[in-house]
Amino acid sequence: MDALHIDPPFEEMTSGPLNAAGIEIFQINIGYRCNLKCRHCHIEAGPERQELMTKPIMEKCLQILETTSIPIIDITGGTPEMHPDFPWFLEACATLRRRLMVRSNGVILLQESYASFLDLYAWHQVEIIISFPHMERRIADRQRGEGVFSNLIEVLRKLNERGYGRQNSGLILNLVHNPAGAYLPGKQENLEGHYRQILKEKYGIVFNNLFCITNMPIGRFLSYLQTSDNYEDYMMTLVQAFNPATLENVMCRTTLSVAWDGKLYDCDFNQILGMTVNHGAPDHISVFDLAKLAHRRIVTGNHCYGCTAGAGSSCQGEIG
Ligand code: SF4
Ligand code: SF4
Repeated sequence: MDALHIDPPFEEMTSGPLNAAGIEIFQINIGYRCNLKCRHCHIEAGPERQELMTKPIMEKCLQILETTSIPIIDITGGTPEMHPDFPWFLEACATLRRRLMVRSNGVILLQESYASFLDLYAWHQVEIIISFPHMERRIADRQRGEGVFSNLIEVLRKLNERGYGRQNSGLILNLVHNPAGAYLPGKQENLEGHYRQILKEKYGIVFNNLFCITNMPIGRFLSYLQTSDNYEDYMMTLVQAFNPATLENVMCRTTLSVAWDGKLYDCDFNQILGMTVNHGAPDHISVFDLAKLAHRRIVTGNHCYGCTAGAGSSCQGEIG
């Protein structure tokens, strides 16, 4: 990606190194397998992907969580349901009594062999985060695949039936919006209002929060930028929208990302770029050391402009 000359490089935008401020979120990517192949996917996930976390690495994750007080477990993929050991791992994570989140593509829950997760999630009060890129059917389908919009509506109804997204149910349902092209997302508050109104009025669906996430110039979205001749313009858009106020809260400051093979990263994006934690911090779960990782120096690059543009972007949406 850095074949493109970026001026100024991201490193010059921070006053000194960017350091972690503890580990609040233990984000575990259990594999890159997914039944979809979304156009914006930075993981480049798909049904053919073979990268799946082994049980010993999952056990090591559990052991670390048991022996620390990291408050949030965030399980992601691919779509986690396609990992054969996920039911076991989910139950084991639930017994740790932490805030437990799963990032699912949602539509997989309509398949008979995965439908049991609807009840399993509700039983364990798992927070569900589902990508719902656009309120316009045509655009959502173009981004994620034909028929995905209708399937998402159906699965959100099933989740609402179980209490998800409803007030005082304790069952949290968050949606994710990301732009359909090479531009920054709109204001999260406004988009959330728009989603809430359309989903309620047209489909009778409720949810808790909408997270707006900037498309990162990596993975499948990078290929799209390059083939559509938008890469340079998009990078310039990100650089020009740099917002120093976001640096305080970029997600790498409080997140540790564990990859399917146990390697440790400052975030999911660095994981895809193969940029493990560095600067003296242990880079594999087998040598996990909380003291060294909690305040590690973060590995940055020009892709970080994606997190700091405009209102900022993280796995929890805006950060500015
Ligand atoms: S964006 Fe999510 S749902 Fe789409 S292919 Fe990637 S992992 Fe699967
Ligand atoms: S891509 Fe974002 S989250 Fe990752 S290291 Fe850069 S600023 Fe941090």
